[in-house]
Amino acid sequence: MNCPKCHNIMHEIHFEGVVVDFCDACKGIWFDEDELAFTTELSTDIPNISEVEKDARTTEYACPRCGSQQKLQEMKFVPVEALLIDRCPQCKGVWIDKGELPKIEVIAARIGDSKSKIMLTCRQLSTKGYEILEMKA
Ligand SMILES: [Zn+2]
Ligand SMILES: [Zn+2]
Repeated sequence: MNCPKCHNIMHEIHFEGVVVDFCDACKGIWFDEDELAFTTELSTDIPNISEVEKDARTTEYACPRCGSQQKLQEMKFVPVEALLIDRCPQCKGVWIDKGELPKIEVIAARIGDSKSKIMLTCRQLSTKGYEILEMKA
């Protein structure tokens, strides 16, 4: 699969039954439907999807997964947060740019909790040489 933003070949990281696709060039991450929820340990990929979808903006980027004719849609992760994600209207996959993951409050709260899924995922990624969270020392 190629990165929707820089078209680099993405690396698949297999982790506890999910496959996260990571771009080594721009450091963005692709989550298929339900994989983001798995990682954040929330019940759904995007909380308040019906609300944030109303203000979504169509981007120039094609979905890297399903090749839908519809472009990715940029929307807020939750109405009040600054984090913007890109979502495919067809396969419901989610793209997160470099450095954006820690903006997800629930993830930020779990940084440092060694048992959380996000920290396990990060550790798995870092053993392969990818740092997805820019952790402060
Ligand atoms: Zn990229
Ligand atoms: Zn798609």
